[in-house]
Parts: sequence; structure tokens; C-alpha cells
Amino acid sequence: MSDNLDITNTEKNETIASSGTEEKEQEYEKVCFMCHRPESKTGKMIDLPGNISICPDCMQKAFDIMNSSDLSNLQNMQNLSNLQNMDLSRIPNVSFINLGDLQNSIPRPQQVKKKKKEEKPQAAFDIHSIPAPHRIKAKLDDYVVGQEHAKKVISVAVYNHYKRVFTNTMDEIEIEKSNMLMIGPTGCGKTYLVKTLARLLDVPLAIADATSLTEAGYIGDDIESVISKLLAAADNDVERAQQGIVFIDEIDKIAKKRNANQRDVSGESVQQGMLKLLEGSDVEVPVGATSKNAMVPMTTVNTKNILFICGGAFPGLEDIIKERLNKQAAIGFQSDLKDKYDKDPDLLTQVTLEDLRNFGMIPEFIGRLPVVFALQSLSREMLVKILKEPKNAILKQYQKLLELDEVKLDFEEGALEAIAERAMERKTGARALRAIIEEFMLDIMYEIPKDDNIGQVLITREYIEKTGGPVITMRGMLALGNKS
Ligand code: ADP
Repeated sequence: MSDNLDITNTEKNETIASSGTEEKEQEYEKVCFMCHRPESKTGKMIDLPGNISICPDCMQKAFDIMNSSDLSNLQNMQNLSNLQNMDLSRIPNVSFINLGDLQNSIPRPQQVKKKKKEEKPQAAFDIHSIPAPHRIKAKLDDYVVGQEHAKKVISVAVYNHYKRVFTNTMDEIEIEKSNMLMIGPTGCGKTYLVKTLARLLDVPLAIADATSLTEAGYIGDDIESVISKLLAAADNDVERAQQGIVFIDEIDKIAKKRNANQRDVSGESVQQGMLKLLEGSDVEVPVGATSKNAMVPMTTVNTKNILFICGGAFPGLEDIIKERLNKQAAIGFQSDLKDKYDKDPDLLTQVTLEDLRNFGMIPEFIGRLPVVFALQSLSREMLVKILKEPKNAILKQYQKLLELDEVKLDFEEGALEAIAERAMERKTGARALRAIIEEFMLDIMYEIPKDDNIGQVLITREYIEKTGGPVITMRGMLALGNKS
């Protein structure tokens, strides 16, 4: 009886062991003996004796070389046989390998650990049946603070764009593409808005900087390279890339220089070069690389359904708007209110195509960006909200980090205001927030884990202004407080 038991146990152990090796095998994959690429890249390997695997490409190459090699070489081979009659050991500096020896040292099977497939976050929306604009805006609200007008405009534009792409009922009336131009000071959330949108829609996004773009033939990235970036973001899936979003930042930097005597390489000609792309054209792009060369396969991407969003801070545009408004006012009855617009923080929202033309954008270019809107500069209240309200707010991230040490992190309202005030001084919008917080959280993150008894930390205004310290409460005190 016990013998039987033993046998079954051993069998069980063997099965467990073998299932373990199977699991391991699933985790690892074969590597080509010649080119060292893994099986997931090359396709099914051909197994040769001695634990050697060769990928189909290398195998094919080997056959090609054999086929193309000159048969007259065979003659040379025959001559080689004459060598056998010589005493080879007498030739200096030549050693011969005995193939027979090699067979005794069987190479270890070559394998590498398989890359784990990244789990893609679930898209909030399906672009094939795009939800109504108010639902898109509601999702954006979870992440982007304020900028109500911008979120509304972008939701409607995106809704119309994907509706146009996926419903084929608009054959007779060709609906214009809703490419956008976003104007707003640095750090106010232009890039963040586009990134959030692309993530919610689960469409590929390419971000490029207009300053690095040049006409084809000049040093720098040529304009079409943004489409290569998009293709890469879509994992080289042309179909997906053709429904993606391209964000071109710092578009104001390619404005026509107002009194340039020299040839304007980076300005007007880049705008000209972008016209076709914005409108919709076939672009030849390299697959899996950013530069074209003879070795890289090419593919064609059509940009008709790619949504282009351009963004820029447009410094000086406010003066142009002010000038126009003042001129208009001078004609009317309000000529006495000349400085009326000087302190208007939202002057940019009154931008017209004429203003943009005066700034240096060519009419054909602006004409291809029919949706133009401005973002507000961030006020102190908005900065405080950015600190604490979005789903992935900076404060929430720090609270989560300290929670892992079972420490509760709180911020006084005054402390948040002090951070916002400091950020406003730096004039880089919300971008300054993270830098400021990192500065003073360093000490907290360093000191708190030293003492296990600390249960709560309250960051005060005084701590931010460097006139006091944070309020620290011990675990015992917290428990007492909870009881009473
Ligand atoms: P820019 O307008 O210069 O493109 P970004 O979009 O890059 O500025 O903003 C910088 C960072 O500031 C973002 O990564 C984001 O975390 C934060 N941020 C800016 N504006 C907002 C906003 N309105 N709501 C939430 N976070 C914002």
C-alpha cells in the first residue's frame, strides 16, 4: 500500500517538475545561432542537431550563398585534397581544427527570456462609435483642470473628425477636416490635453517640435518624419497610424520673419511644406526607422484622416490683437479707453485669422487649421486645483507613496496656495509645480521612513515659506485622537 503511495507521489513530483520546465520553456524563446534574433522576431526557427536553431532568413541566406557561389571553386576544393599528403604540422602559425573534437562539446541551447507583452490600458472610448462631445469633455475633466472652452472645442472637433472618418454617409457633402490650432502660454496644458485625449481614444499620437522641422534637403528632420513617428507609435500598423493624432508644438516658431532679408529656411517654407500633409496626401515613410535609406523598407501612409493639432505660445500675438482692438475702438465711441485691453488676461481668446496672418502665419496654412482656440493662462486657484484634483494629481502621488509606509500625508490649504504663488513667479505654468514640490518633499521623503512611530505629516504654509516646519503626529497620538 505504502509502496503504491510512494509511486504515485513520485509520479506526481515528476509531473510537477515537468510542468515547471514547460512553464520555463514558455518563458524563454529560441535565438538564431547566426543573427542572434529571438524567435518572436524571426518566425519559426529551424532546429539543427546539437541544439542549434537557425532562423528562416539566415537559412535562406545560406542557401543563396551556396547557389550563387562559383562552381569552379569545387576545382579548388579538389586541389585542397592534395594538402592531405603534406605534413601540415610543419607550417608555422597554422593550426587546424579537428571537426570531430567539436562534436564532443555540444553547445548549450541558445535562448533568451521572452519580452512580456505590455498590457494596454483600456480605451475609454471606441473611436468607431465615438460618444457625444459632452461625454468626451466629462472624461477630459477628470484630468485637465479649467480650460473649459478649450475642452469643449476639442471635444466637438474630435467628435466631428472621427464621425467623418467612420461614417460613409457623407459622400456628397465633403466634410472638412477639423485640424486645430491651439494658442496658449507655456505650461498651460496644451500638450497634456492632446496626450490625455489620445490616451482616452486609444489612438497613436506623435508629438513633434516645429523648430526641428525643415524642408526636405536641409539639415534637420524633414516634415514627413512626423508621419514616421506616428507609424512607430502605431507599432508600424499603417491602418492605425492613418487614424492617429499628430501634435506639432511651437508652431509659432515657423512664422514668417517680418523683415527677413535672407532666405527663410525654417519659417515660411516649412509652412508651405506642411500644407499637403495637413490636407491629406500619400506619404512614403520608412518602416521601423526615421530616416530613409536603401536598406529600410518603405510604406505609404495617407494623411487624410490623421488629425493634426498645432500648438504654440505665440509671444507678441497679444500686442497684435490689442493694436487691432484699439484701432477698432478709435473708430467707435470708446476711444477714451485706450488701455482697456492692457490688463485683459484672456485677450488671446479674441484672436482672429487676420491677427495670425499679421503674426507671420501664411493664409494657406491657417486655412488648413479651421478650428482655432486659445487656452487661458493658469491662475493661482487653477494651480491649486491642479495640485490636488486631477485623477493623477501630484499630491495624490505623494500621498500614495507615503501610504505605503502607513503614513498619512496632508497639506494645509495655505501650503498649496504658497506653492501656487511660487509657481506663478517662475512663469512656466503648471510645469513649475512639480519642481517646487520635489524640492521640499525631498526632506520629508528622506526623514519620515527613519522613524516607524510617525503616523501623520501635515505640510504647512510656514514649511513652504521656510519659516517653520511640518506638523508631525506620532502613531500613539493618532490612536488617542481617534478614541476621544
Ligand atoms: P504646454 O502648454 O507648454 O504644452 P504642458 O501640457 O506640457 O504645457 O503642461 C505641463 C504639465 O503641467 C503637464 O504635464 C500637466 O501635468 C500639467 N498641467 C498643465 N496644465 C494643466 C491643466 N490644465 N490641468 C492639469 N494639469 C495641467
